[in-house]
Amino acid sequence: AVVTRFAPSPTGYLHIGGARTALFNWLYARGRGGKFLLRIEDTDRERSTPEATAAILKGLDWLGLDHDGEAISQFERADRHREVALDLLAQGKAYKCFSTQDEIQAFRDTAKEEGRSTLFQSPWRDADPSTHPDAPYVIRLKTATEGQTIIEDEVQGTVKIGNDQLDDMVLLRSDGTPVYMLAVVVDDYDMGVTHVIRGDDHLNNAARQMGIYTAMGWPLPVYAHIPLIHGPDGKKLSKRHGALGVEEYQAMGYPAAGMRNYLARLGWSHGDDEFFTDEQAKEWFDLNGIGKSPARLDFKKLENLCGQHIAIAEDASLLAEIEEFLAATNQPALSDAKKEMLGNALFCLKDRAKIFPELIEKAAFVFAERPINPDEKAEKNLDTVSRGILSELTPHLQNASWSRDALEEVMNTFAEARGLKFGKLAGPLRAALSGRSVSPSVFDMMIVLGREETLARFNDAAN
Ligand code: GLU
Repeated sequence: AVVTRFAPSPTGYLHIGGARTALFNWLYARGRGGKFLLRIEDTDRERSTPEATAAILKGLDWLGLDHDGEAISQFERADRHREVALDLLAQGKAYKCFSTQDEIQAFRDTAKEEGRSTLFQSPWRDADPSTHPDAPYVIRLKTATEGQTIIEDEVQGTVKIGNDQLDDMVLLRSDGTPVYMLAVVVDDYDMGVTHVIRGDDHLNNAARQMGIYTAMGWPLPVYAHIPLIHGPDGKKLSKRHGALGVEEYQAMGYPAAGMRNYLARLGWSHGDDEFFTDEQAKEWFDLNGIGKSPARLDFKKLENLCGQHIAIAEDASLLAEIEEFLAATNQPALSDAKKEMLGNALFCLKDRAKIFPELIEKAAFVFAERPINPDEKAEKNLDTVSRGILSELTPHLQNASWSRDALEEVMNTFAEARGLKFGKLAGPLRAALSGRSVSPSVFDMMIVLGREETLARFNDAAN
């Protein structure tokens, strides 16, 4: 069975690249009935913070990337990492190295002068243990000195690294703490990870990590190192481009489903498909479709996909997400009455908005309170003549049945009798109902608002 994982270092927010890595792992596992695990790589005690862990969890939660089981803390597994290093030592696959920093530096200086490789070669690798001094030491892995380490990467293809490029890496520091590289391998092995899908900034690490797998006789995972994300200008992503925390995308009002769709397409493709549902993404996602070159961030595309996802969303979940958006941006919560009204209005709003602030703007007629304060353009549609028309129309609506067809008929008959084009009528009605010159259709608004509120708004505007 497939087991993937997301292994963020909690040193900051969950940025868009990390979110995409998490998404790829989630899609790969979920599409194959596998497991998607979460490991917090908090071994760097100076840079790791609980706030960052919380932000990462929140970001994943917003994106809907649920993980199986408890999140694992790498730091808390240090004893197990140490155990593996000592096991390798006992097997003779690692050794105690007593070289001091000064000695290592001297080795490098000499090597440089003599034009040799400056990779440190420890004199302790093959030393007789009876000659070991009583001094601090690190534990190093005995890395193969000849041949090549060959990474069969699902994205990068076959990557060969000469073993003469790899030194005997430290596994345990002199204070007994395990290094990060060891921790990753032991955790992935213990967690049963079958597929390591991560940024290609870790490709070189894979060569070193493979050395540990091999020494322990553990089966290698499948590797897929994905190219980083670039800005729209093709340059490395920076804050200026939108290398923001995902919570900032949430605050800008992108729906999570649109975000997932967009991030899935960012560096992965399935034919010409741009817009797809989660179900399709889970079914289609594979490692073959991941491109070799960096994907570029494209906000236009993101917005377009978001608009399409808002349009197909179920009203109940859309309403819940709007409420979540309001809370995340510290806006007042919806009253029960407004919530109900907004829910009833979604049918005429959801194919008109790409992001939530836009939808809320279009829903101004729902949020407005009487008496409605028209904006400048709407005000122009409420001149004396228009106000007279509103007064005249009202009695015709008093007993009309409140369906779209019936309202349409009443209004057309009225316009005809008054010798008006319906267009002439729509401006004032729109202004009276929404206080705007742009809004959903007048009929849709009347249906949503109901007779009482509609007539009250007409009456306010007429007087
Ligand atoms: N903690 C690493 C990072 O945040 C990921 C390590 C891995 O995926 O193996 O870049």
